[in-house]
Amino acid sequence: MSTQIVSAATRLKKIREAYAKQLPVQLEGIRKSYDEFVAGGVWGERLEDLHRRIHTMKGASASFGLSMLSAAAAAGENLAKEALQTITPTDKNWHLQMQECFSQIDREIARIDPEQGMELQIQELTVASDASADKEQKVVYLCEDDSFQRLALATQIGCFGFEVVSFGDIDQLYNAVQNSSPDAIVMDMIFPDKPVGGAEVMNKIQSGREKPIATVFISSNNSLANRLSAVRAGSSAYFTKPLNITDLCSTLSLLTSAVKPEPYRIMIVDDDPQLADYHALILQEAGMTTMAVNDPLQVMSPLFEFKPDLILMDMYMPGCNGVELAKAIRQISAYFSIPIVFLSSETDTDKQFHAMLTGGDEFLTKPIKAQHLISSVAVRAERMKIIRSYMVRDSMTGLFNHTTTKEHLDTAIAHAQRKEEEVCFAMIDVDKFKTVNDSYGHPVGDRVLIALARLLGQRVRKTDVVGRFGGEEFAVVLPGCSISEAVTLLNELRESFAAVRFQAKGEPFSCTFSCGVAPLSLYGDATALCKAADEALYLAKNGGRNLVCEASCEK
Ligand code: GH3
Ligand code: MG
Ligand code: MG
Repeated sequence: MSTQIVSAATRLKKIREAYAKQLPVQLEGIRKSYDEFVAGGVWGERLEDLHRRIHTMKGASASFGLSMLSAAAAAGENLAKEALQTITPTDKNWHLQMQECFSQIDREIARIDPEQGMELQIQELTVASDASADKEQKVVYLCEDDSFQRLALATQIGCFGFEVVSFGDIDQLYNAVQNSSPDAIVMDMIFPDKPVGGAEVMNKIQSGREKPIATVFISSNNSLANRLSAVRAGSSAYFTKPLNITDLCSTLSLLTSAVKPEPYRIMIVDDDPQLADYHALILQEAGMTTMAVNDPLQVMSPLFEFKPDLILMDMYMPGCNGVELAKAIRQISAYFSIPIVFLSSETDTDKQFHAMLTGGDEFLTKPIKAQHLISSVAVRAERMKIIRSYMVRDSMTGLFNHTTTKEHLDTAIAHAQRKEEEVCFAMIDVDKFKTVNDSYGHPVGDRVLIALARLLGQRVRKTDVVGRFGGEEFAVVLPGCSISEAVTLLNELRESFAAVRFQAKGEPFSCTFSCGVAPLSLYGDATALCKAADEALYLAKNGGRNLVCEASCEK
């Protein structure tokens, strides 16, 4: 944690130094703009340019803690605003005041101490990294006295990608936990001569622990008394037997994954590069990913490539102002609902109101406290992420939908071609799925699909993409994976899925899937790759199902 803070402070110091260094050039620009105005260029335009430049200096200098300079610039800004609002030509007194203002700015620039530090109040935001969060396979301790159930359950939970260690009695479990804590415990309630033995031992285990171990109770007893014992022993869930293995494993995934959500992507549009960097730094320290654009007229291609969750926008910029740019961006259908937050030193509430009306979500004034900037941005970016997830994910399984999976495949292919790496693409289709629906009903069919989605999602690497292609068809994109590695992995998944026992109408049943997989190196582009995987899937179906078939060019 401390190293991160040091590096942020160092970077901040550098940004501030760079800012201070270019101030004389900025002042020169202000003076030049003024001279052109005096020389009688296009009257309104020159004056607007002058106003914008001084305004920028006022806002940015305040953000870097240079309050005296900011005050000097504010005086100049007021003069420019005054002139903009009257139709009478500027008089001698006005020019004298403006020139005095430039001299004052000059003096303030000369007084800046580059060594002076600046507080960036972000300490509390630095997230301490949790070693267990990054570990791929989670360890689950299972305690169940019935040896048959124990074995069956361990196998089932194992199918969902957990490492399961089983115990037949509570003392063994207790000792094991003292030696090494698992990520979660699946605990039976009733043990020989101990009707709530599971709860008793869990009480003992959890007492005195700083952070309780995630615990799920399983029991054939559905009484409230037993459920209360479980709650008092710190359980997170209670499942009755016969167990719904998908729900149990979903709960285990939720309890054990400290899934770090994708960071918010924030685009910063500000013509002042140092100020853009400064705001970027604050947001980065809060874990967000940023991209700064200094020329508002160049915003289009970064917008499409970076795909921000939110745009932080300056108001006064050369070429076009923030309000115009916000309107133009919102006229693109994909960005119709993107949150836009104006960050400007504009304090005129009428203008702020106008900006809000024309497409801004919020108006923040510079200088802004780091914490305030972060929370304003995070709240709105989160909303955008949720809206976007509705568009990219399948609501039943939570996997990527067809369109998004294809987009991920395209991205993976482009990346692989640049790096000269392999990508494999697999299509998975549940075997005889219609009979599941016909025998047990549609809701049971849905449960099977959700289970398969969970299993696939749990078992692939973070860089792999799993999507629901439609109906009972799924797709997996495996970047950097050779065809033989892909076949091995898919066969493991196939066997795991076949081992999952579902319950319906009081009887157990299982399902299988068939899979076709193809490597990019043989097929060259996304269309050919999808076609090859689909043909290989057809081969697997024809070959008797419950098979993984590899595409080959001869076929
Ligand atoms: P095959 O082994 O040849 O793939 O046989 P199949 O029965 O799986 O294939 P078929 O394409 O004939 O049937 C697929 C069935 O999947 C038909 C459709 O009603 C069902 N299905 C598609 N989407 C869903 C869904 O979201 N939920 C449920 N429960 N069933 C679905
Ligand atoms: Mg099918
Ligand atoms: Mg099908």
